[in-house]
Amino acid sequence: MNMRIGHGYDVHRLEAGRRLILGGVEIPFEKGLLGHSDADVLAHAISDALLGALALGDIGKWFPDTDPRYEGADSLRLLGEVSAMVNEKGWEIGNLDATILAQRPKLRPYIDRMRENLARACGISTEQVSVKATTEEKLGFTGQEQGMAVHAVCLLLRSGG
Ligand code: MG
Repeated sequence: MNMRIGHGYDVHRLEAGRRLILGGVEIPFEKGLLGHSDADVLAHAISDALLGALALGDIGKWFPDTDPRYEGADSLRLLGEVSAMVNEKGWEIGNLDATILAQRPKLRPYIDRMRENLARACGISTEQVSVKATTEEKLGFTGQEQGMAVHAVCLLLRSGG
């Protein structure tokens, strides 16, 4: 088979006193995402989609949050390591598509920078990376601004195929 599909989903809690980093872009906001690493929920969901496509588990398996090496880690760097793993196994990324679920802040001004950062981390072009954002109409934990969630999918193609 020369194609694989992958799905990733991640959630992080929003807390005062943390930086908000999505797709490697620091976004001014009164709260940020809580986590052992920089808590970049977008980079995490995409990493999980890539690992999922090759049935390699998830980023918690490869970069455990009990490991002090990953404290405050730049999640784009972890994504880069995951995409290198994908390439080493003989696959290349066809495209990535992600949806951020967040009530606030407005993310549109930052989306293209996120796409550029994610593409650079994966060694692909920006047009292969889609990032979208939606609110959940004030419903549930994203709507109540308790956290943010991201869904991501990817398509992998056999290298040289
Ligand atoms: Mg995470």
